[in-house]
Amino acid sequence: MKPEQVMKFKKLFEDQKTALLYSYKVMNEDFNLKSDDLSDEVDLASAELEQNMRLRLRSREALFMKKINEALQKIQVGAFGNCECCEEEIELSRLEVRPTATLCLNCKEIEEMRESQSADGRKSKSMGNQGNLRTA
Ligand SMILES: [Zn+2]
Repeated sequence: MKPEQVMKFKKLFEDQKTALLYSYKVMNEDFNLKSDDLSDEVDLASAELEQNMRLRLRSREALFMKKINEALQKIQVGAFGNCECCEEEIELSRLEVRPTATLCLNCKEIEEMRESQSADGRKSKSMGNQGNLRTA
């Protein structure tokens, strides 16, 4: 990949990181404000629900942050844009759509195929459990 292309991605990741850090800050401030004026159980329940949603959102953001940090690290060592599996360069068009991609299209397809197979396995297993419930 050309150095100016790498620089473009570096800027993108740094911007995303700043945006994420900002949203952490806003979320914390917002939540502290709300927990002060809890009056009854309904409020408490909805506050708990809201906190659960925030936590879920936050874990997704934390994962995204991790990916950004990993990408920035790769830029630093000059390995950005290389597939983690076959070590070929990841297609630029793919990186433009998904800058945190760590696999080339070929390797990603193989991985997705494997994932969908294991998801099918889980599905049939849980369906079996439901069947047990019905007979019990
Ligand atoms: Zn690959």
